[in-house]
Order: sequence, then structure tokens, then C-alpha cells
Amino acid sequence: MSKNNRKCYLCGKTYYYCPNCTNDYNKPTWMFMFESENCFKIFNALQLHYQKSLTDEEMLTIIDNSDISELETFTEIPKRQIKDLLSKRKNQVTEINETDTQKVKTVPKKSTRNKK
Ligand SMILES: [Zn+2]
Repeated sequence: MSKNNRKCYLCGKTYYYCPNCTNDYNKPTWMFMFESENCFKIFNALQLHYQKSLTDEEMLTIIDNSDISELETFTEIPKRQIKDLLSKRKNQVTEINETDTQKVKTVPKKSTRNKK
């Protein structure tokens, strides 16, 4: 059996990847840094978000569609970034709820808002 020789940049899990070995030769290049496509996608998106190429909302959508069930074991920087975002959303949700209760009759439809 092969030994785990790499550590995922996002979740910190160790895994095995050997770009020069026949078994792993055809595997995607992100395997240099990440043990799963899920981690790769999240990390990639976090970088785009950090560079302001993704909005908070877009980033949260990606998080929603990804697996962050093991967030607590993620490496420090991505974990902090994700947690910051999730707490921002919590604040937003509270704000929306407050306005909703104040003017229940005129709740704007979410889907028609913020369209470019
Ligand atoms: Zn990972």
C-alpha cells in the first residue's frame, strides 16, 4: 500500500498522489494540492473571492453547493475566511427578518433583486 505523501491545502487531510506513477498519471493537476475536487473548488473560489472577483453572495452559493461538513478541521486561513462569510450571512438574514416583520406586506422577491 502507498503512504500518504501529501496534505490537502484546504482540509488538511493527508492523501497519496504521485504524478510520476502510472496510477496517478492521468489524474487532474489540482491533486498536487488537494485531495478532492470539492476542496479544490472551495479553495479556488476563496482565492477569487479574496481578490474580489467573486462577491460574498457568489462565494456563499459555492459554499452552499460544496461540502464543508468538516470545516472545523480545515486549515486556518480558509476556515477563517469561510466562517467570516457565514457570519456575514447570518447578520444579513437577521436584518432581512427585521425588515420583513416591519413591513410584511411589501416583501421584495429575492429572485428579481440584484440582477445585472
Ligand atoms: Zn481537502
